[in-house]
Amino acid sequence: MKETLAALYSLQQLDTALDTIKRTMATMDPGKRERVAYDVAKQAHTVAEQHLHSVQANIRDTELEQKSVETKRANEEKLLYGGTVRSPKELQSLQQEVEMLARQRATLDEKLLEHMEALAGAKQAEAETRHAHKATAIALKAKQEEYKQNGEVLTQQGRELFAQRKQAQSPIPPDLLQQYEKLRSANGGIAVAFIIDGTICDGCRMKIPGALITQLKETSRLLHCDNCRRILVYYKA
Ligand SMILES: [Zn+2]
Repeated sequence: MKETLAALYSLQQLDTALDTIKRTMATMDPGKRERVAYDVAKQAHTVAEQHLHSVQANIRDTELEQKSVETKRANEEKLLYGGTVRSPKELQSLQQEVEMLARQRATLDEKLLEHMEALAGAKQAEAETRHAHKATAIALKAKQEEYKQNGEVLTQQGRELFAQRKQAQSPIPPDLLQQYEKLRSANGGIAVAFIIDGTICDGCRMKIPGALITQLKETSRLLHCDNCRRILVYYKA
Protein backbone atom coordinates (compact mmCIF):
# COMPACT_ATOMS: atom_id res chain seq x y z
CA MET A 1 0.00 0.00 0.00
CA LYS A 2 2.88 2.29 0.70
CA GLU A 3 3.99 1.93 -2.90
CA THR A 4 0.45 2.62 -4.10
CA LEU A 5 0.31 5.75 -1.98
CA ALA A 6 3.67 6.87 -3.33
CA ALA A 7 2.41 6.19 -6.87
CA LEU A 8 -0.74 8.22 -6.13
CA TYR A 9 1.41 11.04 -4.86
CA SER A 10 3.59 11.12 -7.96
CA LEU A 11 0.48 10.87 -10.14
CA GLN A 12 -0.87 13.90 -8.33
CA GLN A 13 2.35 15.82 -8.91
CA LEU A 14 2.30 14.98 -12.61
CA ASP A 15 -1.37 15.96 -12.92
CA THR A 16 -0.72 19.23 -11.14
CA ALA A 17 2.14 19.96 -13.55
CA LEU A 18 -0.11 19.06 -16.50
CA ASP A 19 -2.87 21.33 -15.15
CA THR A 20 -0.37 24.18 -14.84
CA ILE A 21 0.65 23.70 -18.47
CA LYS A 22 -3.01 23.67 -19.56
CA ARG A 23 -3.71 26.84 -17.60
CA THR A 24 -0.61 28.57 -18.97
CA MET A 25 -1.55 27.63 -22.53
CA ALA A 26 -5.11 28.87 -22.03
CA THR A 27 -3.92 32.26 -20.82
CA MET A 28 -1.12 32.67 -23.36
CA ASP A 29 -1.51 35.80 -25.43
CA PRO A 30 -1.53 35.13 -29.18
CA GLY A 31 -0.94 38.86 -29.76
CA LYS A 32 -4.47 40.26 -29.40
CA ARG A 33 -3.29 43.78 -28.72
CA GLU A 34 -0.74 43.63 -31.56
CA ARG A 35 -3.45 42.35 -33.90
CA VAL A 36 -5.75 45.28 -33.06
CA ALA A 37 -2.88 47.77 -33.56
CA TYR A 38 -2.03 46.11 -36.88
CA ASP A 39 -5.64 46.23 -38.12
CA VAL A 40 -6.01 49.88 -37.13
CA ALA A 41 -2.69 50.83 -38.79
CA LYS A 42 -3.55 48.86 -41.91
CA GLN A 43 -6.92 50.58 -42.20
CA ALA A 44 -5.30 54.01 -41.69
CA HIS A 45 -2.79 53.25 -44.44
CA THR A 46 -5.52 52.10 -46.84
CA VAL A 47 -7.44 55.34 -46.23
CA ALA A 48 -4.28 57.46 -46.72
CA GLU A 49 -3.39 55.55 -49.88
CA GLN A 50 -6.88 56.04 -51.32
CA HIS A 51 -6.74 59.74 -50.50
CA LEU A 52 -3.33 60.07 -52.21
CA HIS A 53 -4.65 58.31 -55.31
CA SER A 54 -7.69 60.56 -55.47
CA VAL A 55 -5.48 63.67 -55.17
CA GLN A 56 -3.21 62.34 -57.94
CA ALA A 57 -6.29 61.64 -60.10
CA ASN A 58 -7.55 65.19 -59.47
CA ILE A 59 -4.21 66.57 -60.64
CA ARG A 60 -4.27 64.47 -63.80
CA ASP A 61 -7.87 65.48 -64.56
CA THR A 62 -7.14 69.17 -63.99
CA GLU A 63 -4.03 69.03 -66.19
CA LEU A 64 -6.07 67.38 -68.96
CA GLU A 65 -8.74 70.06 -68.63
CA GLN A 66 -6.02 72.73 -68.81
CA LYS A 67 -4.68 71.21 -72.02
CA SER A 68 -8.10 71.04 -73.59
CA VAL A 69 -8.86 74.67 -72.64
CA GLU A 70 -5.46 75.75 -74.00
CA THR A 71 -6.04 73.95 -77.30
CA LYS A 72 -9.47 75.57 -77.63
CA ARG A 73 -8.04 78.99 -76.81
CA ALA A 74 -5.20 78.59 -79.34
CA ASN A 75 -7.71 77.67 -82.05
CA GLU A 76 -10.01 80.58 -81.22
CA GLU A 77 -7.07 82.98 -81.16
CA LYS A 78 -5.90 81.73 -84.51
CA LEU A 79 -9.33 82.54 -85.90
CA LEU A 80 -9.44 85.87 -84.10
CA TYR A 81 -6.07 87.11 -85.33
CA GLY A 82 -5.68 85.05 -88.46
CA GLY A 83 -7.53 87.49 -90.70
CA THR A 84 -9.94 84.95 -92.16
CA VAL A 85 -12.84 86.13 -90.02
CA ARG A 86 -13.85 89.66 -90.84
CA SER A 87 -17.39 90.05 -89.57
CA PRO A 88 -17.27 92.34 -86.48
CA LYS A 89 -20.04 90.33 -84.86
CA GLU A 90 -18.13 87.09 -85.30
CA LEU A 91 -14.92 88.73 -84.17
CA GLN A 92 -16.63 90.05 -81.04
CA SER A 93 -18.03 86.61 -80.30
CA LEU A 94 -14.55 85.08 -80.78
CA GLN A 95 -13.07 87.70 -78.48
CA GLN A 96 -15.61 86.85 -75.80
CA GLU A 97 -14.89 83.14 -76.28
CA VAL A 98 -11.14 83.69 -75.84
CA GLU A 99 -11.74 85.73 -72.68
CA MET A 100 -14.01 83.06 -71.26
CA LEU A 101 -11.39 80.40 -71.96
CA ALA A 102 -8.75 82.54 -70.25
CA ARG A 103 -10.96 82.76 -67.16
CA GLN A 104 -11.48 79.02 -67.26
CA ARG A 105 -7.72 78.55 -67.47
CA ALA A 106 -7.19 80.81 -64.46
CA THR A 107 -9.74 78.86 -62.44
CA LEU A 108 -8.04 75.61 -63.41
CA ASP A 109 -4.65 77.04 -62.40
CA GLU A 110 -6.02 77.83 -58.95
CA LYS A 111 -7.57 74.39 -58.69
CA LEU A 112 -4.30 72.75 -59.69
CA LEU A 113 -2.44 74.76 -57.06
CA GLU A 114 -4.86 73.53 -54.39
CA HIS A 115 -4.43 69.95 -55.56
CA MET A 116 -0.64 70.34 -55.49
CA GLU A 117 -0.79 71.61 -51.92
CA ALA A 118 -3.02 68.66 -50.98
CA LEU A 119 -0.57 66.30 -52.70
CA ALA A 120 2.30 67.13 -50.32
CA GLY A 121 0.14 66.39 -47.26
CA ALA A 122 -1.34 63.25 -48.81
CA LYS A 123 2.13 61.92 -49.69
CA GLN A 124 3.37 62.54 -46.16
CA ALA A 125 0.29 60.89 -44.61
CA GLU A 126 0.67 57.88 -46.92
CA ALA A 127 4.34 57.48 -46.00
CA GLU A 128 3.70 57.87 -42.27
CA THR A 129 0.81 55.40 -42.19
CA ARG A 130 2.80 52.98 -44.39
CA HIS A 131 5.68 53.01 -41.90
CA ALA A 132 3.31 52.61 -38.96
CA HIS A 133 1.58 49.72 -40.72
CA LYS A 134 4.94 48.02 -41.34
CA ALA A 135 6.00 48.52 -37.69
CA THR A 136 2.79 46.95 -36.38
CA ALA A 137 3.20 44.04 -38.83
CA ILE A 138 6.70 43.38 -37.45
CA ALA A 139 5.45 43.59 -33.84
CA LEU A 140 2.55 41.23 -34.59
CA LYS A 141 4.80 38.72 -36.32
CA ALA A 142 7.27 38.74 -33.41
CA LYS A 143 4.45 38.18 -30.91
CA GLN A 144 2.95 35.37 -32.99
CA GLU A 145 6.36 33.74 -33.30
CA GLU A 146 6.85 33.96 -29.53
CA TYR A 147 3.38 32.49 -28.96
CA LYS A 148 4.13 29.64 -31.33
CA GLN A 149 7.48 28.88 -29.75
CA ASN A 150 6.13 28.98 -26.20
CA GLY A 151 3.25 26.79 -27.30
CA GLU A 152 5.63 24.25 -28.82
CA VAL A 153 7.76 24.14 -25.65
CA LEU A 154 4.69 23.63 -23.45
CA THR A 155 3.22 21.02 -25.78
CA GLN A 156 6.48 19.09 -25.67
CA GLN A 157 6.59 19.33 -21.85
CA GLY A 158 2.97 18.18 -21.74
CA ARG A 159 3.76 15.17 -23.93
CA GLU A 160 6.63 14.13 -21.67
CA LEU A 161 4.54 14.53 -18.52
CA PHE A 162 1.73 12.58 -20.09
CA ALA A 163 4.06 9.69 -20.85
CA GLN A 164 5.33 9.77 -17.25
CA ARG A 165 1.74 9.89 -16.03
CA LYS A 166 0.91 6.71 -17.92
CA GLN A 167 3.76 4.96 -16.14
CA ALA A 168 2.90 6.42 -12.74
CA GLN A 169 -0.68 5.22 -12.85
CA SER A 170 0.12 1.64 -13.89
CA PRO A 171 0.66 0.29 -10.31
CA ILE A 172 -2.55 1.92 -9.05
CA PRO A 173 -5.65 -0.35 -8.90
CA PRO A 174 -8.51 0.82 -11.18
CA ASP A 175 -11.02 1.47 -8.35
CA LEU A 176 -8.49 3.63 -6.52
CA LEU A 177 -7.69 5.46 -9.71
CA GLN A 178 -11.39 6.16 -10.13
CA GLN A 179 -11.59 7.46 -6.57
CA TYR A 180 -8.55 9.63 -7.24
CA GLU A 181 -10.13 11.16 -10.36
CA LYS A 182 -13.40 11.82 -8.49
CA LEU A 183 -11.56 13.54 -5.64
CA ARG A 184 -9.53 15.53 -8.12
CA SER A 185 -12.54 16.89 -9.95
CA ALA A 186 -14.27 17.70 -6.64
CA ASN A 187 -11.22 19.39 -5.11
CA GLY A 188 -9.85 21.73 -7.73
CA GLY A 189 -7.55 19.16 -9.25
CA ILE A 190 -5.89 18.09 -6.00
CA ALA A 191 -6.85 14.63 -4.72
CA VAL A 192 -3.71 13.81 -2.75
CA ALA A 193 -2.44 16.08 -0.01
CA PHE A 194 0.88 15.94 1.77
CA ILE A 195 1.14 16.68 5.48
CA ILE A 196 3.16 19.81 6.00
CA ASP A 197 4.93 20.69 9.24
CA GLY A 198 3.88 17.25 10.51
CA THR A 199 0.29 18.38 11.22
CA ILE A 200 -1.25 20.46 8.40
CA CYS A 201 -3.16 19.15 5.37
CA ASP A 202 -1.51 20.77 2.35
CA GLY A 203 -4.84 20.57 0.52
CA CYS A 204 -7.05 22.63 2.80
CA ARG A 205 -4.48 23.99 5.29
CA MET A 206 -6.43 22.59 8.24
CA LYS A 207 -4.77 20.96 11.23
CA ILE A 208 -5.03 17.18 11.23
CA PRO A 209 -5.99 15.63 14.62
CA GLY A 210 -3.08 13.92 16.39
CA ALA A 211 -4.84 10.52 16.35
CA LEU A 212 -5.10 10.64 12.57
CA ILE A 213 -1.45 11.62 12.27
CA THR A 214 -0.50 8.61 14.40
CA GLN A 215 -2.64 6.39 12.20
CA LEU A 216 -1.02 7.84 9.09
CA LYS A 217 2.42 7.11 10.43
CA GLU A 218 1.61 3.58 11.55
CA THR A 219 -0.85 2.04 9.12
CA SER A 220 -0.53 1.79 5.40
CA ARG A 221 -4.29 2.18 4.94
CA LEU A 222 -5.65 4.93 2.76
CA LEU A 223 -6.73 7.80 5.03
CA HIS A 224 -8.59 10.99 4.19
CA CYS A 225 -8.52 14.50 5.56
CA ASP A 226 -11.65 14.99 7.71
CA ASN A 227 -12.08 18.45 6.30
CA CYS A 228 -11.42 18.24 2.54
CA ARG A 229 -11.63 14.44 2.05
CA ARG A 230 -8.34 14.37 0.15
CA ILE A 231 -6.12 11.30 0.42
CA LEU A 232 -3.39 12.06 2.93
CA VAL A 233 0.27 11.23 2.45
CA TYR A 234 2.63 11.39 5.41
CA TYR A 235 5.73 9.94 3.80
CA LYS A 236 6.47 11.09 0.26
CA ALA A 237 8.10 7.78 -0.61
ZN1 LIG B 1 -7.56 18.69 3.96
